[in-house]
Amino acid sequence: MEKDGIWSFTDLETEVVKKGICGKCGGCVSFCSANRIGALVIDEKGFPAYGEKDKCLECGLCYMVCPQTRPMRDEVDEEFRWRPPIGNFVDVFSARSASTDVRDRATDGGVVTSLLIHMLEKGFIDGAAVSMATDPLRRKAVVATSREEILEAAGSHFEESPHLEEVGKGYTTYVPVVKSIQESAPKRIRKLAIVGTPCQINAIRKMQALQIAPSDMVTYTIGLFCMQCFEVGNLMEKAFMKAHKIRVEDIAKVNIKDDFMLTMKSGITVHIPLKEIEEIARPACLACKLFANDYADISVGGLGSPDGYTTVMIRTIKGKEMFADALYHGRLQHIPRKSMDERQREKQRIVSLVEDFAELKRERGEAELEKIRLGPAGGPSRGEGKTGNGSDG
Ligand SMILES: Cc1cc2nc3c(=O)[nH]c(=O)nc-3n(C[C@H](O)[C@H](O)[C@H](O)COP(=O)(O)OP(=O)(O)OC[C@H]3O[C@@H](n4cnc5c(N)ncnc54)[C@H](O)[C@@H]3O)c2cc1C
Ligand code: SF4
Ligand code: SF4
Ligand code: SF4
Repeated sequence: MEKDGIWSFTDLETEVVKKGICGKCGGCVSFCSANRIGALVIDEKGFPAYGEKDKCLECGLCYMVCPQTRPMRDEVDEEFRWRPPIGNFVDVFSARSASTDVRDRATDGGVVTSLLIHMLEKGFIDGAAVSMATDPLRRKAVVATSREEILEAAGSHFEESPHLEEVGKGYTTYVPVVKSIQESAPKRIRKLAIVGTPCQINAIRKMQALQIAPSDMVTYTIGLFCMQCFEVGNLMEKAFMKAHKIRVEDIAKVNIKDDFMLTMKSGITVHIPLKEIEEIARPACLACKLFANDYADISVGGLGSPDGYTTVMIRTIKGKEMFADALYHGRLQHIPRKSMDERQREKQRIVSLVEDFAELKRERGEAELEKIRLGPAGGPSRGEGKTGNGSDG
């Protein structure tokens, strides 16, 4: 039940963190830290927590910006003219970077990397919040301010072989990019692009609807499609690794499209059904209903495009203008097509596929949330409420 009046982090802790549906987007902590209140910290497991509770002003903004809570959702829906089932979009197609340098490193067609480089070099942005590999199995959020840094952040390649002790430390695909926005202040960044999963972009949009820092500097959002993120103690112990005879040290690249794809250093790609790897998905991701990044300026994924191309969903006028500018300056290329009819059929095919995956994810999230609502004793738990296009519990 939503209570009347003002919330505080105690409500967020009860309704989201303790219920196991916190996606660790970092939105709540980012707001509280960026505004120098400093009541919240990120704990050793990546969850938000009170650091200095007596500093809490009970402003309720951490509660309001959380992608898992109801407040501000209607305002964001209205602003982005959200419509079911995958939000508003003005165009959908497959594209790729025109640069082979970028394509060689990229996850799919390198559209994200080339678009960011274009925006930076043309002065549309001063930096981009992206995620950079720190070792073969982990990434960290960084604010990139040069072409080289953006290029380094592209893709999900394992360039060196992981040492076995690193494999034991754990594997994760989740990176708290929103929290890194704070790094922008000392770098004097005023116009920032952010690349993020749907939960992260949702938190940014809620902050923007409230007109609060640090979202004020975010001028472009590039949203990744997201079925789930993985977080696992020891990848080698997992059944699917044994079943497919995969050794971590042989993996060259990881990707998700309509299944989980592990490209080996030998060049062979192993396709694993998403259902089979749910055992390593973060529990909060299984309860999440967001897939197509409905509020980004441009949403991207591999789903629906041939290898070497990125699926691009243009959602806002700003996104449309930026993509057109990069295309005009020869940074990006459309997939070759023969006729307008063919283009229309392609668009329809991709949209149907994205809608199907969004529906699958919504159903999975509903089922998981229902289990959480019923709780271990079968009774409804706190926070039961209205469900929308988000993931409220
Ligand atoms: C965790 C995760 C789950 C995904 N799930 C799906 C899916 O289910 N279906 C689907 O079709 N596509 C999914 N994608 C998107 C897909 O993998 C590609 O990122 C997308 O198609 C863009 O490809 P590209 O070659 O244009 O990007 P590139 O040019 O390779 O650039 C990728 C950009 O994403 C940033 N990035 C990488 N990892 C992260 C991260 N964890 N958090 C935030 N930013 C990151 C990089 O820093 C880089 O800027 C997912 C991506 C991620 C990171
Ligand atoms: S000060 Fe506001 S944002 Fe910070 S913890 Fe308290 S309620 Fe949340
Ligand atoms: S989902 Fe994000 S905003 Fe919500 S509690 Fe977790 S870290 Fe905070
Ligand atoms: S599935 Fe993706 S969008 Fe949902 S909580 Fe996990 S990382 Fe965030």
